[in-house]
Amino acid sequence: MKLIFLGPPGAGKGTLALRATDILKVQQISTGSIFRAEMAAKSPLGLKVKSIIDAGKLVDDETTIALVKQRLSQDDVQNGFILDGFPRTIPQAQALDEFCTVDKVVNFDIPDSGVLERLGGRRVCRKCGFNFHMTFNKPSKDDVCDHCGGEVYTREDDKSDAVQKRLEVYREQTAPLINFYREKGLLVDIDAKPMIDEIVVSFKKALGI
Ligand code: ADP
Ligand code: ZN
Repeated sequence: MKLIFLGPPGAGKGTLALRATDILKVQQISTGSIFRAEMAAKSPLGLKVKSIIDAGKLVDDETTIALVKQRLSQDDVQNGFILDGFPRTIPQAQALDEFCTVDKVVNFDIPDSGVLERLGGRRVCRKCGFNFHMTFNKPSKDDVCDHCGGEVYTREDDKSDAVQKRLEVYREQTAPLINFYREKGLLVDIDAKPMIDEIVVSFKKALGI
């Protein structure tokens, strides 16, 4: 199955993707995680995008589209994938249409208050990328990942100024994709407010699996 996860920052796309990859036996492709790995490695791409990402802005379409196009050409995603964080603009969606057909677009429905609560408490493992939350899903030892022992930190773009910017960018550039995909008959909505186990249930129901 080929899926897009669409929703505001902090909606829980990555958290559900982790569960869904296991259920569907497909790879997750997270553009944000790919960029963060490049930043950690201080690669030319990482150095180029760091100040943009830290400020909560979007990386340019050309760079992002080239990255995804290359990733989608690899063998391990030919039978299915979850695209998490792409497309985020209409031009990205139009470009994707030309090199790939998706089965469904899962739209994460959550109010701004939910987003702020989640991003405010989010901590991420530098090594494996796992998302923790200081209220809902704390690491058992502060700053240490339960899964791989990596360092757990607060993303620069989860700090409050960048969060406001990301919400604004989402409303202006990403939210129009909801209608774009609804008109194509691909959109399924899920309520992203409940805890993850409940979301997994609505996800399966929405896909009829
Ligand atoms: P979240 O979903 O929590 O906002 P992500 O981890 O998906 O965060 O993305 C982090 C940052 O990476 C974005 O704020 C943006 O700067 C960059 N990014 C990720 N995906 C894209 C994309 N499709 N287009 C442009 N920039 C992107
Ligand atoms: Zn880890």
